[in-house]
Amino acid sequence: MQPEETVIADFDLIIVGGGIGGGALATVMARAGRSVLLLEQSEVYEDKVRGEWISPWGVAETRRLGIYDTLVAAGGHHLTRLVGYGAGVDPAEAEKLAMDLGMFVPDVPGPLCIGHPHHCQTLFDAASKAGADTRRGVTVNEVVLGAEPTVRFTDSSGEHCHTARLVVGADGRMSAVRKTAGITLHRDEPHHWFAGLLVEGAHDWDELAQATGTEGDFHFLAFPQGEGRVRIYGGYPIEEAKRFAGSEGARKFIDAFAI
Ligand SMILES: Cc1cc2nc3c(=O)[nH]c(=O)nc-3n(C[C@H](O)[C@H](O)[C@H](O)COP(=O)(O)OP(=O)(O)OC[C@H]3O[C@@H](n4cnc5c(N)ncnc54)[C@H](O)[C@@H]3O)c2cc1C
Repeated sequence: MQPEETVIADFDLIIVGGGIGGGALATVMARAGRSVLLLEQSEVYEDKVRGEWISPWGVAETRRLGIYDTLVAAGGHHLTRLVGYGAGVDPAEAEKLAMDLGMFVPDVPGPLCIGHPHHCQTLFDAASKAGADTRRGVTVNEVVLGAEPTVRFTDSSGEHCHTARLVVGADGRMSAVRKTAGITLHRDEPHHWFAGLLVEGAHDWDELAQATGTEGDFHFLAFPQGEGRVRIYGGYPIEEAKRFAGSEGARKFIDAFAI
């Protein structure tokens, strides 16, 4: 009888997708001494207007994972108060009634804000520094799951094929890995649009205060990121896809905050 062949995987872990999820996982696992291959398709992280406000309980999680100091060193900015502006509310009164965002989790002053592309890049770099093999500009050609998970991909140095003990699909909402694994995506029907802009030079904004409120059918949020940068978001009904479309869209969006 032939002895069973023992397959030695090239990596403990191959992670497809180097966003916040993939970058954080790669960093933590590489720091724990695991061999990690992190594959990211983009050459540069673009501003996709999302994922910049880490909740207080998320901050506690970053501490547990040991990545909090990395994010703060990269400019992570804590907010400590929430002001609820809106129709019929006197702004001065709203500011007096601001909510203390440090009340949710002991020893966490509030949420932590860090721009999304910078957040991704910080974690990608941290993974490299921790010893992960990190690749950009990757096209994943095939993921084979099963007893010997395998990933075939192309990057600027050519075509590669690697095995791992575990393959993780961290490739976002349209995940090809999820489809390969036959995992069904459950989602709610969208009911609102959510648009956003990053405003620079907003030095008059209280850097510790985030704001939220509703004016008519427009729901707004603002999150300072430090150094005069503030991310503003607006939510509006799904039927109004064109509300902020076109060359005047950004101006109209800013004006919506001035009502
Ligand atoms: C408008 C909006 C605002 C949000 N705001 C917040 C917020 O303030 N706070 C918060 O906690 N969450 C927020 N979220 C949610 C948060 O952004 C997501 O949960 C988070 O970005 C998910 O991270 P991820 O790494 O799993 O996926 P993604 O961010 O989607 O990253 C996936 C990565 O995989 C890469 N990739 C995709 N396909 C492949 C492939 N085939 N091969 C290799 N790489 C691939 C992509 O380039 C990307 O870098 C927001 C979401 C939206 C839509």
